[in-house]
Amino acid sequence: MEAKTPITSISALGAMLNAPPIPDKIAGVIRAKQLQSVAALVPTIMLAQLISGAVLLVVFWNSEADKFLSLWATALCFCSGGTMLRSVRGHEVHKLKTRSQAAINRLARASAISGILWGIVPLIVMPFTDPIGHMALGVIIVAMCFAGGFLLARVPSAAFAFVLPIMLGHVVGMQLQDEYVHDLMAVLTLVYACMLVVCVQWSYAKYVEQLIAEAALQDQQQVIGLLLRDFEETTSDWLWQTDAEGRLQEVPGNLNTDKAQYDIMQYNKVLVDLFGACEARTVLKKSLKRRVGFKDLMMPVDTGEHKVWWLLTGKPFFEDGFFVGFRGVASDVTAAKESEDRIAHLAHYDALTGLPNRVTMLETLEKRMRTKSTEDTHHALLWLDLDNFKWVNDTLGHPAGDKLLQMVADRITQVCQADDIVARLGGDEFAICIERCGDRTAIEAFADDLSKELAQPYLLMGSAARCSASIGIRLFDNSVPDSETLLKHADLALYQAKSNGRSGWCRFTPELELKASERREIEEDLQRALENNELRIYFQPQIDAKTHELVGCEALLRWQHPRKGLIYPSDFISTAEDSGLITRIGDWVIRATLAQAKRLPDNVRVAVNISPLQIHSANLFTTIVNALAANEIDPERLDLEITESVLMTDTDFTLERLHQLKKIGVRISLDDFGTGFSSLSYLRNFPFDKIKIDKSFISDMETSEDSRAITVATLGLAKALGLNCTAEGVETEFQSKFLSNNGCDELQGYFISRAQPIDKLGNFFDIKPVGLEHERIGKTSHLKLVTPSTKRGADQRFAGLKRQ
Ligand code: C2E
Ligand code: CA
Ligand code: CA
Repeated sequence: MEAKTPITSISALGAMLNAPPIPDKIAGVIRAKQLQSVAALVPTIMLAQLISGAVLLVVFWNSEADKFLSLWATALCFCSGGTMLRSVRGHEVHKLKTRSQAAINRLARASAISGILWGIVPLIVMPFTDPIGHMALGVIIVAMCFAGGFLLARVPSAAFAFVLPIMLGHVVGMQLQDEYVHDLMAVLTLVYACMLVVCVQWSYAKYVEQLIAEAALQDQQQVIGLLLRDFEETTSDWLWQTDAEGRLQEVPGNLNTDKAQYDIMQYNKVLVDLFGACEARTVLKKSLKRRVGFKDLMMPVDTGEHKVWWLLTGKPFFEDGFFVGFRGVASDVTAAKESEDRIAHLAHYDALTGLPNRVTMLETLEKRMRTKSTEDTHHALLWLDLDNFKWVNDTLGHPAGDKLLQMVADRITQVCQADDIVARLGGDEFAICIERCGDRTAIEAFADDLSKELAQPYLLMGSAARCSASIGIRLFDNSVPDSETLLKHADLALYQAKSNGRSGWCRFTPELELKASERREIEEDLQRALENNELRIYFQPQIDAKTHELVGCEALLRWQHPRKGLIYPSDFISTAEDSGLITRIGDWVIRATLAQAKRLPDNVRVAVNISPLQIHSANLFTTIVNALAANEIDPERLDLEITESVLMTDTDFTLERLHQLKKIGVRISLDDFGTGFSSLSYLRNFPFDKIKIDKSFISDMETSEDSRAITVATLGLAKALGLNCTAEGVETEFQSKFLSNNGCDELQGYFISRAQPIDKLGNFFDIKPVGLEHERIGKTSHLKLVTPSTKRGADQRFAGLKRQ
């Protein structure tokens, strides 16, 4: 540690004795306080002076100094009397809040007069008295100095003006004596004087410090008071206070809230009893008990009329170390809480059906996956998708679609047990999480019931609509890593259920994952197939049923895969549709077909299959028009085959697009007639040129009476509507004869020919060589197989055609 030098000690002493600077704005106030404290002591000081004066007179009356003393005593009485009088008369002045420096100076002057009066005493008495008298005088003088010094300490100038003349008089008086003891006493008096000065200065410095701090505190309290008043008046928050028992002590007077809330806050009511049971209330209870602060506790308050929510913050307060109670702020947060609840509900529930949403389902799955499955309980996730929702939405309108979703939600809930969780994942997709006892057949039985229930027609806008559902099922236990995997597996099962046909369910198996990865592989390969020129167009001839003349051919897509060989559309079209590649592939088919069609005789039509997604492609119309123009093909030779699923999506748009094509002369055929949902209604909606009876009716024809009846009815219908009718999938002579005898216009099928590359169609047509497409080969002889002149021979050959 560093040793203190005398200089540092002196400067430390200086710092201790220096009073802090007094800000101007409170200087007057401080002066008033100084003078008040002295004024209160004036009678004491005067009394002390008079008693001391009296003792002095008694002690030295018989000495030679008595003449001077009586004069002195008269002066003292006069002075003291005057001071007392001024003090009594000026008691109103002492009530003033501020005083000037002149008032301080006046006090200092009065003190100086008293001090001088007492300072004269040693000079008068010392020369005429003995050592006992000296001692008595010494005691009186020192007592006067110290008493005066302390009593006037709050006004140092007055204290010094009183003390210093007395001390000085005493020192001079001592100096007039010869004894060395007197010298010693004189020195001691000087030391006392110094000590007194230091003490007075120190006590004054402390006094001023305290007054400044008090003034600052008062200032602060005023500001806080103002702020609090403003806070209570302008915000919906209010201040509260309890006693040590937690009873309300301060009830806000101007609560900016409804009366019901105000009424429940009564003096002495237990704070905790205001709130309804909840977790935050338990926290509040504990905090009050442990005397610790708490923050933002949101609790319900039952006002009797309605439920409101308060946010409470508080902390304990102590006085002199003793716990007094709690103080804090409360605010009415009902509106915020209600909107927070609404948002939370929206975040977890579907607004249309009121069912839990995807987020909630994922949370439920996570929870269920953590609960252990036992031997005889099984958990399953069922993912459900409506088969026909888009059609309902598009044809009956969105309100009907919404109503249907609500009806579906109701039906699902009815079939489910109380603890099953049903959620709407979005669109027309629903998920159900179930737990069933017994073996797995319980889950399958549930899926059967659900399918049956949902397949029942719905009464919508006055008509019965069918909208079955396909269901993917994933049984699960703790081995499934996470809910995302679970959903993915259920989705794969749903995809399979959809491909198996409508209104069915399918359980997840590892093979489905394998299939999915194959589909992904196909998708990747298909991306390259277009660039690498791996796609091919095969043509399947269509003949006139009566004359057996070849009238057209259907373009069917093939994929010459570099590793897997020739792939048929059934193995890749759905993948192309799922991935959106179908529009590019479809455009390619149109361009490639029409480019090759140049090589066919001019009166042979070409049919191209159009996928539902393609119809929505912005390019379709221009692709067709450009390809027709580029190859100089009459639009009437082009036949677009669409299935009714094309018309099931966005009907108005689709119809407009089809009319646009029909306007330029392109023919539109309804493919796979009879397999769809409501084929007849489409015949009314759009003027098709042709219907194609689906091959499923033709293949059954020989064995099934029903198929024959349906076929005959369809042919009759086509005739009545003035439509051309083609039967596809004709494989036998019986089918061919039956169809032509019943008025079918055209035949297509293996009995006539399989689909072939154009160069292999030489049996049927004179195929123009590449590059000579524009040269007509002959007006009537372009059909190699069938011409009017060779009708008989052709018939024979036709009869001899085998399935290839
Ligand atoms: P689709 O339009 O009904 O075409 C007829 C399908 O029946 C063709 O199968 C054809 O080879 C087959 N077929 C023809 N005659 C017979 C027969 O006598 N017996 C049997 N059992 N089958 C016969 P493919 O070529 O495999 O095409 C399957 C489906 O793929 C087509 O059905 C069509 O929907 C679609 N498709 C084919 N090419 C394209 C295309 O370029 N674009 C689009 N979007 N779809 C296409
Ligand atoms: Ca077709
Ligand atoms: Ca077909």
